[in-house]
Amino acid sequence: MPASAPDFVSYQEFIRRVAAVHALIAAACAAAGRAAHTVELLAVTKTHPVAAADYAARSSLRAVGENRVQEAADKRPHCTAPTLAWELIGHLQSNKAKLAAQLFDRVQSVDSEKLLHHLDRAAAELGKILPVLLQINAGHDPAKFGADLIDAPRLAELALTKKNLRLDGFMTIAPLGATPAETTAHARRTFANLRSLRDDLAPRLAVPLRELSMGMSGDLAEAIAAGSTQVRIGTALFGSRPTPA
Ligand SMILES: *Cc1c(COP(=O)(O)O)cnc(C)c1O
Repeated sequence: MPASAPDFVSYQEFIRRVAAVHALIAAACAAAGRAAHTVELLAVTKTHPVAAADYAARSSLRAVGENRVQEAADKRPHCTAPTLAWELIGHLQSNKAKLAAQLFDRVQSVDSEKLLHHLDRAAAELGKILPVLLQINAGHDPAKFGADLIDAPRLAELALTKKNLRLDGFMTIAPLGATPAETTAHARRTFANLRSLRDDLAPRLAVPLRELSMGMSGDLAEAIAAGSTQVRIGTALFGSRPTPA
């Protein structure tokens, strides 16, 4: 285990938190009449030391989420778990597409035609098929990245024409409200929008688009009720982040 910051969570404490999050996922699944294994826990390790990724692998999680290409480039070579998957969940500029295609096992933040072109070309040069999600601003939040809902069908069709990309589904982030009740209402509306988009497009395009990456520490129950297949959890596993990200 590499050295980590003195105030970083211990592995024992991390294991307790993973169990607690799994219990929340199981409860939300039970309430929605879903099987608990249909929702994956993605450990969001951004801003945390590489030990966070090692913890995730050691506790049998499949993947970690990072929101900056450069941070992942700095950390991944030091990660001791060769089979751990790394997913990009933060905004990607097209000039970093090549590095992202090289570094990540999946990119969840694809939100433009330009990015689709750049990632496809980069994946082709690397001789790989890069799995992607389209990030949709399903809550119409002016402060968030993500394609508009109305542009999603066109982007999905374009993604399916890219030979070196594999479109797995969609990702979204719900807008915050001024009060907890408003935040919950935004979350329900945002996640329902993403679910309807998928339910509409999958049969039309004749592809499963099974992944719905939605739900974070604060809104995972609403996301699971709406059909989330992957919740992205940072704070509830590793504690609050040293700097806002
Ligand atoms: C940081 C981040 C998360 C995790 O958020 P927490 O509230 O710490 O669980 C999830 N998704 C994205 C896109 C993020 O940037």
